[in-house]
Amino acid sequence: MSPRLKIAHLPTVIEVLPRLSKTLGGPRLLVKRDDQTGLAFGGNKTRKLEFLLAEAQEQGAHTVITAGALQSNHCRQTAAAAARVGLDCILVLVGQPPDQPTGNLLLNQLLGADFVWVDRVEQRDDALQETYAAALEKGRHPYLVPYGGSNPTGALAYVFAMQEMLEQIEPPDWIVFASSSGGTQAGLVLGANRFNFQGQVLGISIDEPQDVLRARVAALATAASEKIGEKIAISPDEVLVNDDFCQPGYGVLTEVEREAVQMFARSEGMLLDPVYTGRAAGGLISLIRQGFFKPDQTVLFWNTGGQPALFSDKYCSVIR
Ligand SMILES: *Cc1c(COP(=O)(O)O)cnc(C)c1O
Repeated sequence: MSPRLKIAHLPTVIEVLPRLSKTLGGPRLLVKRDDQTGLAFGGNKTRKLEFLLAEAQEQGAHTVITAGALQSNHCRQTAAAAARVGLDCILVLVGQPPDQPTGNLLLNQLLGADFVWVDRVEQRDDALQETYAAALEKGRHPYLVPYGGSNPTGALAYVFAMQEMLEQIEPPDWIVFASSSGGTQAGLVLGANRFNFQGQVLGISIDEPQDVLRARVAALATAASEKIGEKIAISPDEVLVNDDFCQPGYGVLTEVEREAVQMFARSEGMLLDPVYTGRAAGGLISLIRQGFFKPDQTVLFWNTGGQPALFSDKYCSVIR
């Protein structure tokens, strides 16, 4: 068994969204509230970090190092989880340190993370390696948390999340969610296989073409399977990805995200984030309007979190 910390508030609740279903004239809609995992505004990375930081501790780490976008939710949750278990955290970020940090950046600071800044995204991997080497040199036993927490260890968390959901409700026909570094989807796909989930697991791609993401998810799921006992070969054909909404690019907001964030807020009082859940919910809304789901089906939207980005200077003026 892989070691696991207990940090997240689990199981996260599942709610029904009757007013949203009615507004859209669509299928029955449910939401799994992984935005409420309990640690520093929550989100899907908290589940992964239960396994990743347990591994870090097992390896005797003093410092964890990771990287992400400027408003990365992954970095914020890593900083929070590290603080929670008494590890130092170094974040490698692309850009300039702002005079007045907002959103997740502000939270990273409050959570006590240290920062390494690089000018361009191409420099990030080298900076990560250098930061790692420097920490090693200092005897800090560094542990590298992968981008988005997505390696086989992190992905394991969503195998158990699938099991958790299946213990809560009748299996939905569809699960729809934001997919980016692929760990969440890899875990859900493997969990679906392992626990014999008969519905469909559909990732809305945030920033990658379908082929790239399907291959990545399949490889991660296959590798993760070895950690739960037996190797299960997951092929890219078994991975459902919709990439119709990623064309504008990562973090570039359009009417799709704006409408989704407002519609969820105004019909259910539920806040989404601009980059991930906003785009995924925009995709869901669009698919409902296209008649993609049958009216008698149940669709579970897995809310992966990210709301602090709403309060970042980068997004708050464009999302309202
Ligand atoms: C990281 C993130 C995702 C994507 O999860 P992956 O496992 O990287 O595919 C979705 N939503 C939010 C809010 C995230 O922060």
